[in-house]
Amino acid sequence: MSTEQTYIMVKPDGVQRGLVGDIISRFEKRGYKLVGLKMATPGKDHLEKHYADLSSKAFFPGLISYMNSGPVVGMVWEGRDAVKTGRVMLGATDPLKSDPGSIRGAYALEVGRNVCHGSDTVENAQKEIKLWFPEGLNSWTSAAYNWVYEK
Ligand code: UDP
Ligand code: MG
Repeated sequence: MSTEQTYIMVKPDGVQRGLVGDIISRFEKRGYKLVGLKMATPGKDHLEKHYADLSSKAFFPGLISYMNSGPVVGMVWEGRDAVKTGRVMLGATDPLKSDPGSIRGAYALEVGRNVCHGSDTVENAQKEIKLWFPEGLNSWTSAAYNWVYEK
């Protein structure tokens, strides 16, 4: 298990439904360290870059128009096994298949309105962080570190 950074994003439906605070809170309370946070309305080209791997899928145009329908809140969380554990905290892509304790399992019912995004691999996390935070992240030491980690 290594220290990783992952890109987590509250999608437009999550912002509109007032879920930003809860989603931040879950990562904060779990013990992850926030190193980047911003609201953005980046436009179609940027969103198409973010989802470039899915450009051949039939749902792609609908996905881009959903993602472009309002501001999103992007964040970078750092800590042990952040990428995989972040995905578990989000739940399955299809909210009906998500654990009810997960974010999607608690707050969503449809794959096309599943309130949040999370990087799926360490490599993709690094790409997404560069795309969304070209200005860089914040490096700081958490006073809680020794209360979260045994070693
Ligand atoms: N999506 C969709 N229909 C599908 C599959 C995916 O609308 O059949 C949307 C959904 O919002 C999902 C996003 O496209 O979160 C990206 O798909 P991916 O397979 O990367 O799922 P994720 O990594 O978000 O769980
Ligand atoms: Mg994905």
